[in-house]
Amino acid sequence: DCGADAILAGAARSYPDRLALVDGDTSLTFSQLHDQALRVAQGLRERGVQPGDAVGLHMPNSIWFIVAYYGTLCAGAAVAPINPAQPVPELKRQLDDVDAKVVFTHPSCAATAIEVNSQSTPPRILVLVPGADAQSGHCGGLTSITDLASSKPLADYRVDPELVAHLQLTGGTTGKSKAVRVLHRNLVANVLQSACWRSGHRTELVDGALLVRPIDGAVTRYSIVPGEGASISIAPLFHGLGLVSHNFTTLLGGTVVLGTRFDPDRFLADVDRYQVTYIGGSPTMYYALLRARTLREHDLGSVRILGSGAAPLDTTAIRTLREVFPNALVTEGYGLSEATMGLTMGSPCEERPTPLGSVGLPLPDTEIQIRDEVTEAVLATGETGQIWARGPQITDGYHNEPELSAGQFIDGWLHTGDMGWRDEQGNLFIGGRSKDLIIYKGYNVYPQPLEELVCTHPDVLQAAVVGAPDQLAGEIPVAFVVVDPESVDRIEQIATEIMDHVATQVAPYQKIREVYVIDELPSTQTGKIRKNELRDSLAP
Ligand code: ATP
Repeated sequence: DCGADAILAGAARSYPDRLALVDGDTSLTFSQLHDQALRVAQGLRERGVQPGDAVGLHMPNSIWFIVAYYGTLCAGAAVAPINPAQPVPELKRQLDDVDAKVVFTHPSCAATAIEVNSQSTPPRILVLVPGADAQSGHCGGLTSITDLASSKPLADYRVDPELVAHLQLTGGTTGKSKAVRVLHRNLVANVLQSACWRSGHRTELVDGALLVRPIDGAVTRYSIVPGEGASISIAPLFHGLGLVSHNFTTLLGGTVVLGTRFDPDRFLADVDRYQVTYIGGSPTMYYALLRARTLREHDLGSVRILGSGAAPLDTTAIRTLREVFPNALVTEGYGLSEATMGLTMGSPCEERPTPLGSVGLPLPDTEIQIRDEVTEAVLATGETGQIWARGPQITDGYHNEPELSAGQFIDGWLHTGDMGWRDEQGNLFIGGRSKDLIIYKGYNVYPQPLEELVCTHPDVLQAAVVGAPDQLAGEIPVAFVVVDPESVDRIEQIATEIMDHVATQVAPYQKIREVYVIDELPSTQTGKIRKNELRDSLAP
């Protein structure tokens, strides 16, 4: 029954002098962040931004991203976070699609925003946030965020929970990205679900602010205690994973340590320096961390939870991460933009550990069903089918796409488009996306478990399994792999070893029939592999 503005208001009330954000030499306490956000909100209102309007956030991670983010939310407008690396045509398409009235941009990508604005009628208000790396010298003429911010903070406001908070762009892994309408009530629900699950605490709404209180006896070794510790952001804030993790840390009064670019060595130094307790990110970032030069040089013992999501994290990496972060629970979560972000998470409870390879249990108030692809009948435990989900985090559908929405949001349930199965305890295992299912002579072959197996080969760094067209079988499973640079002279032997090893572990129809060694797998910024590009490279 509140807007997401209550998350920041609650933290500012409970922890006014704690650091909310740190980025290099710049930092803000919760009360400073709240004050700045309300001044930006007032500034937006003075420039005609009304509740329900859209505001683009076109910039890399920084303290200013968060100031602009909460400022926009407090003004009742919807944020449209946009990857700063988008080229002119895509940025134009995305800003036009959401009809952004104002766009916050950063010196490193402002030239693209300026170019798009020169093609837009009427031009949008472009607001520049401070930052290094000017893409070109011509950022002049833009309003700076300090000029936009009003001398007085927005007062007497209350954000309607039915308003859109995020026009969240999907990752575009399977094609054109779509803007998902995440309402304030969806966002608040998902942040509460994640925070309560992680911390063993409950929340209350007091005078428009969300406050966090402990539940007796629920705190485990892996809990994040409100008001203590820091969190480090390695997920890009323009992605739903980054934004939901950010809000959940704010709700718990944790300090978020930011960096404009992900630099694994700086990251490890920051974990040590700020005694970080929670890390959330995508598998690609963890793989980069594990290859960092300074991996073994720091004290990483403060970390209690290391959460991964957005794409599968291979089990070999999970084992190494457990060794490197000795006190951390390494856990996977599963979700999608259409569900605000989180649907399941690994158990924080030592007595009920999540099996390796599982993405855990449904979050509080979340139902997961596995349904038959054709009949949509609910399947039994252990059977693989389509994942459907229901809960307060399921969003309002796609912006401007009624037909697409009607096909995926059905009677309160979200048809995720992913496949999976559940064990006796209810733990969910992901089999991959429906679009990536391989059909060999009429048998369903799920790529994700095969990728896990391929990655157990000591020379394989990353793998993707896709279906290659075949006259006889329809499709055959083939693997694209990236191998350790030191073993490139053994490519043929490695390919044979992979196929032989997989063949001993699976049914004959699941065997890998070809292995292609490539330098890099095509992927999105959050590390999702663009399998359509791999399939296209195999087309006859
Ligand atoms: P688009 O829908 O435009 O193709 P996208 O699917 O990348 O983009 P997101 O909402 O960012 O958009 O990603 C959600 C998808 O990520 C899920 O549907 C699922 O396929 C995948 N995913 C998320 N978490 C996991 C996980 N832990 N393991 C495996 N896959 C995951």
